[in-house]
Amino acid sequence: MLLEPLTTRASSITRALDQIGDKWCILIIQEVFWGINSFSGMLEAMGVSRGVLSNRLKWLQSVGCLRKRADEENPGRQVYHLTRKSIDLYHLALMAVQWEEKHHPPPAAGRVHLFHSSCGHPVSPRLRCSSCRRDVDGRDVEYHPGPGATRDTRDKKVRRRSSLPASDVPSEHSVYRNLINLVGDRWTANVIALAFHGLHRFDEFHRELPVATNILADRMRFLVEHGIFATEAYQQRPVRYAYFLTDKGWDLFPYFLSLLQWGDKWCDPTGAGRPMCLTHTLCGENLHGEVVCDHCGEELRAHHVDFTIGPPKKHRLA
Ligand SMILES: [Zn+2]
Ligand SMILES: [Zn+2]
Repeated sequence: MLLEPLTTRASSITRALDQIGDKWCILIIQEVFWGINSFSGMLEAMGVSRGVLSNRLKWLQSVGCLRKRADEENPGRQVYHLTRKSIDLYHLALMAVQWEEKHHPPPAAGRVHLFHSSCGHPVSPRLRCSSCRRDVDGRDVEYHPGPGATRDTRDKKVRRRSSLPASDVPSEHSVYRNLINLVGDRWTANVIALAFHGLHRFDEFHRELPVATNILADRMRFLVEHGIFATEAYQQRPVRYAYFLTDKGWDLFPYFLSLLQWGDKWCDPTGAGRPMCLTHTLCGENLHGEVVCDHCGEELRAHHVDFTIGPPKKHRLA
């Protein structure tokens, strides 16, 4: 099938998702954060086929998110390392863990415990506004076009790869598998991002997204089933529903804001600057979210946070 060149409104979220939004890519980066960095280790941990794993590892290297090197302890073996760009996804991972813990708490054996070594306390990461230092809620945000508000031509390969239907993530120790099922599908993630902007009706979403109506209808249904949207009829005969984010849906905002900030920083092919600026309505300042320790208030860095999954053994991120 020949695909028409496709343009969409420039968006740092869409650009970021094009690079790392595929569920396998999200999982691979998560595994490397957790310290699993060889091909065979990932193969075993993720329940992925060889072909798919090798394809995604090449892709992540091509976008500068992984680097392959000889293993220092075992020189015959190649291992994958995070780059500055992918280490920057750390805050995103923390926001994902927070959301998952709140809305899909795992059994004790799968619980993630974070410990801030700088202050010596268990930490529950928060996303706060860097100006007024209050917690960021998506309902307190306004959007304005930024200097880079143009249109992007989309890569066909990326579209094909990421428009596969959402299915369950097989990885046994994925600590945010529910979130991956939401954001690891291009259209589902885009619908959520648009809902933060105040879109409610099917045709409003369809106007923004170059997607077939049956696929969009399928994703809307998925989001209702998973409690991200609640519906309300706004018209009878024929019945039409408007979609509203639930509290669980709004709780995804810190993850998406972190994704947007990562996209602003690392995925600007035009060099024109941010496509969109955000204002924090509580303080009236430009919104920059920072992920901080709820105990000492310091911004969290990967090498200052220890984590354990379940009871025993301690790991260190990155
Ligand atoms: Zn503020
Ligand atoms: Zn702390």
